[in-house]
Amino acid sequence: MSTPGNEEPRLSPRRKRTPFLKSVHRYFDEAAPHTGLAPGLLRQIKHCNSVYRVRFPVEDDEGNIRVVRGYRAEHSHHRLPTKGGLRFSPEVNQDEVIALASLMTYKCVLVSAPFGGAKGGVCIDPHQSSDGFKERTTRRYTAELLKKNFIGPSIDVPAPDYGTGEREMGWIADTFKALKPDHMHTYACVTGKPLALHGIEGRREATGLGVYYGIKECLECTDIVKALGLTPGVAGKRVIVQGLGNVGFHAADSIQRHGDGIITGIAEREGGIFNPDGLDVDAVFQHRTGTGSILDFPGATNVVNSAELLERECDILIPAALEEQITAENAPRIQAKMIAEAANGPVDAAAAQILRERGIRVLPDLYLNAGGVTVSYFEWLKNISHVGFERMVTGYESQANSRIVEALEQLTGKPVDPAQRKAITDGPSERDFVHAALRASMQEGFHRVYRTWHEKKLPDLRTAAFCYAIDRVSRTYLDLGIFP
Ligand code: GLU
Repeated sequence: MSTPGNEEPRLSPRRKRTPFLKSVHRYFDEAAPHTGLAPGLLRQIKHCNSVYRVRFPVEDDEGNIRVVRGYRAEHSHHRLPTKGGLRFSPEVNQDEVIALASLMTYKCVLVSAPFGGAKGGVCIDPHQSSDGFKERTTRRYTAELLKKNFIGPSIDVPAPDYGTGEREMGWIADTFKALKPDHMHTYACVTGKPLALHGIEGRREATGLGVYYGIKECLECTDIVKALGLTPGVAGKRVIVQGLGNVGFHAADSIQRHGDGIITGIAEREGGIFNPDGLDVDAVFQHRTGTGSILDFPGATNVVNSAELLERECDILIPAALEEQITAENAPRIQAKMIAEAANGPVDAAAAQILRERGIRVLPDLYLNAGGVTVSYFEWLKNISHVGFERMVTGYESQANSRIVEALEQLTGKPVDPAQRKAITDGPSERDFVHAALRASMQEGFHRVYRTWHEKKLPDLRTAAFCYAIDRVSRTYLDLGIFP
């Protein structure tokens, strides 16, 4: 017998979901009624299409065998390949990767990256594991994914996430290549690779730089800044960042360097630092590399409990670490005017409601941290086309621009200064292309969310982002005549 939404009767009791997955589902459910889509179609979009859970043996440095748990969730196959990061974390669980894979689906839609969403997790502590153990684990995990068809350039393409980076992506590519030597597009099986292994310039800073572009675009909207009592633009804004990993560092660094924002506080696992006059982000990073901690940075005061830093007065708070950092417990004490979600899921649904009632604007993760997958898309394109973007254009542009300079010199009778000539005639590099396309993608993504928010008169930008994304995914099914 079918229920009103054509739901199949439940054969086994519902598994208890973790708060993070519940929170992502609640966001979805809040947006769903505004889409006007049928309940059955909404359920198809909401739930995860497939999850692979595996346990495999890895030898540790003492020669003992450890059994390692791994997951890969492919949330939506409405587009293929599926795409999303791989995290190493002792806390990772099945619901977490499902929640993160769902966010990936919507993220890809918002920046027009033609992928379904996915996410992987391996249950090891990246800070306590040796390089050798991490390499053996990464390679074995890749082989396990391949055995079950959960990896491949047209199937599912991992990328860096919490606890992983270029090196791990290189190991994945190398393992895939060893096991599939006849594959035409081997290196497109994973993105975020080192440059020597067919990575792309600009991927490393992509997520953080995208966060900056997103904040910048939002702060150009006079209605938003006025309601928050701010002036337009990033310049002079006081910013507190949680997490000085890849995303947090590049977000803070870009805000400071390109936007003239002032980074007043940085929170990390070992504690926080605060300086109302601003912290030099790069110098803090060097200090941490040298001493192993951000604490005792010259000119800054230490904040022993770094969670307390999230509650300090500032214009923009950027959680760039892990999920569930702002909950119903601390949301009432947040003093920031705006929260820019650089991490995935840092604000849970209960906190989001409190922040909304308190007039604090949230720039949601599914839009704001989409810069990483945007540049992953460019890397994947480069890998399947086997040519860099600049190769076909730069030489031509350089020659065309030289002809313009020569014509100018003839017209004016004056030689153009050599430095100026070089600036005009040098064609764009791969990084120039990537940064320009990333910026355009983040701008377009913002305006998709902003327009939806206004047109549908929605309570917040997150609901708007979900609405836009759900509607776009639904079209694939509707155009196929499924779910009329
Ligand atoms: N881990 C990143 C994210 O959460 C990157 C995903 C990708 O590049 O595929 O968006």
